[in-house]
Amino acid sequence: MNLHNSTHEQLLSPRGTRASEQPISQLMSAALANPGIISLAAGFVDNATLPLEFVSEAAQNVLGDTATGRLALQYGTNNGPQELRQAIARRNFSNNADDLADRMILTAGSNQLLHLVAECVFDEGDIVLCAAPTYFVFLGLLKDMGVRAFGIEADDQGMIPESLDQGLQQLADNNELHRVKSVYLIPYCDNPGGSTVPEARRQELIAVMKKWQQQSPILLLVDNAYRDLRYSGEDIPTLTDLGADPELTVESGTFSKNFGPGIRVGWGVMPRWLFDSARRFKSVIDFGSAHLNQQLMLNILKSGRFDEQVQRLQTAYAGKLQVMLEACDTHLAGIPGVEYRRPIGGLYVWLELPPGVDAGSDSPLWKQCIERGVLYVPGEFCYPSEGAAVRKNTIRLSFGVQPESQIRDGIKLLSEAITAIMNP
Ligand code: PMP
Repeated sequence: MNLHNSTHEQLLSPRGTRASEQPISQLMSAALANPGIISLAAGFVDNATLPLEFVSEAAQNVLGDTATGRLALQYGTNNGPQELRQAIARRNFSNNADDLADRMILTAGSNQLLHLVAECVFDEGDIVLCAAPTYFVFLGLLKDMGVRAFGIEADDQGMIPESLDQGLQQLADNNELHRVKSVYLIPYCDNPGGSTVPEARRQELIAVMKKWQQQSPILLLVDNAYRDLRYSGEDIPTLTDLGADPELTVESGTFSKNFGPGIRVGWGVMPRWLFDSARRFKSVIDFGSAHLNQQLMLNILKSGRFDEQVQRLQTAYAGKLQVMLEACDTHLAGIPGVEYRRPIGGLYVWLELPPGVDAGSDSPLWKQCIERGVLYVPGEFCYPSEGAAVRKNTIRLSFGVQPESQIRDGIKLLSEAITAIMNP
């Protein structure tokens, strides 16, 4: 008997049935089917930068001592060790850090934090406002939950406050404000747009949020995944430090980008009403995320190695970003109507082609690029299905994984494909 017979799919719950293939798997299949292709698509960090020696050292410190070793290998707590939460809060927030640490949950990467918040707050048919474009895994999460993603216009400084206000007004005019549960924002070195929201615009976004929060409880969900990957300019305070309503704000972060994604330590600070629910929710998922990894991160933070690693990453990625931008200047700048942003950090460069040029995953350009040996993320994957228009003429390029020579070659191949499509 074939136990994988499709008739058993009737066992799947509505939620299980909705679990869809992420668009990124299409890219992975394209990469696997074309060995040797230069992938400027993957959002992975650079293997060469991963901090092997710091983790070995920390493992030695933690496990070499019987007491700390046994503690680390025992179950932890649902929301993770207080000392680590405090260290994270003090590193990220200037005001009330210890209070924030008390309302922090450590998770298995920050994707789990986003999931946890979504499970505790969003229901089928609810609406979440996101920048257009935004992080496509978050869009996938919303889609699988039956939650409507509503796009808000964004530029090279991130989500536009006036557009957020207009979007909320439009939903209010349609009598749908009660359905709006959250606004999702990536204020530092955005994935995919590359933008960092300046302090003044953060203040404006907070003001728009407060205006609408007087009418309806809308959660501001802030994803700070790329904060440490800044290669120029000054750090900017979090939305929380700038005065966002603490009763309606969640801040999340992760050690994936600034350290190593395999460590799977992420975090989120949330208001008490949500913290209590999320902590209980997490207790039936896993009793708390990997305690050993949390103790390793604590040791690394206390040893000063973490800041050393962040500096190493900043230097390495600054160089690669420069290589990508120089390659764009050389090969793409001269093509009429092609524009790209110059991010101050993160792992991505956002490219816009002339309005009629489709870069979607079934477009002639996409096929040309695969034939020529370069892979990108079609920007269309990153657009919410409602609200701001989907721009199919956009591309996300990553410089995280590839060595410098491949970045140069990849951009050259991309420019040749664009030129061929524009001049048939
Ligand atoms: N937010 C954004 C914007 C991301 O790009 C990522 C990773 N690609 C995450 C959150 C989640 O990363 P992790 O689960 O590894 O912490």
